[in-house]
Amino acid sequence: MAAREIPIVGYESKLLSRVEVAEGTMAFHFEKPPGFKFKVGQFADVTLADPPETDGEGNTRTFSIASSPFENELVFTTRMRDTAFKRSLKKVPLATEVKISSAAGSFTLHKNHAKPAVFLAGRIGITPFLSIVRQAHHDRLPHKLYLFYSNRRPEDAPFLDALQNLEKTNPNFSLICTMTEMSKSKKEWKGETVPIDQEMLSRHLAILQGPIYYSAGPPAMVAGMKEMLVSAGIDEDDIRTEDFAGY
Ligand SMILES: Cc1cc2nc3c(=O)[nH]c(=O)nc-3n(C[C@H](O)[C@H](O)[C@H](O)COP(=O)(O)OP(=O)(O)OC[C@H]3O[C@@H](n4cnc5c(N)ncnc54)[C@H](O)[C@@H]3O)c2cc1C
Repeated sequence: MAAREIPIVGYESKLLSRVEVAEGTMAFHFEKPPGFKFKVGQFADVTLADPPETDGEGNTRTFSIASSPFENELVFTTRMRDTAFKRSLKKVPLATEVKISSAAGSFTLHKNHAKPAVFLAGRIGITPFLSIVRQAHHDRLPHKLYLFYSNRRPEDAPFLDALQNLEKTNPNFSLICTMTEMSKSKKEWKGETVPIDQEMLSRHLAILQGPIYYSAGPPAMVAGMKEMLVSAGIDEDDIRTEDFAGY
């Protein structure tokens, strides 16, 4: 019996541009299909309909949407590991058609603005938070937002400049970046240099209990952040996580 073809469901879109946003990390900009709706922090599946190469992992990947709903484009950002899907995404011509699923996920900003939001991200885990903080600024949301962002070096940190600029223009947004391997960097760095831990949170937050905590990224990093928060006495109901399964 011939294998049944699985129909690709979702929206049609086109690749508009791609840009390196840190060493080994690229942002892919796509047309936002008419009718495509999403909330900050959500993700979607991107499918290459006819890629130049493929492998056993297939032609679809799930990515958090790094752009914000107010913007005209959909942006997905990924670490350029040497896999068939990513090699294809890097070399297909601009205007190549892709399928994008409906947005899904509940990793969105809480409504109660009396509670600050504390975001804990490492490298690629920044993607949902970029969407959240840019939309919050656009909507002039009153929430206090704290982003703890860990990378080995400034060269590895996607969207570092954009986030630093946002901090200058949004008094409700505090950015605490840490670079944990500055000995390997060619850049200057005056900020934090140790991994995110309870002591760092205590130095930057007025009170540890009270905010809603969010962590996204590779599962090992997210598990580590959650363990640190729980041992700091944070109520598990106040911790929200998004695992980038596949890393
Ligand atoms: C909600 C969510 C949001 C994500 N957001 C991003 C993002 O913004 N940027 C980014 O770079 N990556 C993101 N990822 C991870 C992304 O989907 C890929 O898995 C990752 O980029 C590795 O792809 P690869 O081609 O480099 O590796 P490969 O090893 O070739 O691909 C990994 C493949 O294995 C599958 N896979 C392996 N283990 C698991 C598992 N435990 N559970 C489910 N699937 C598995 C993946 O779906 C994928 O198809 C996200 C994943 C999820 C689930």
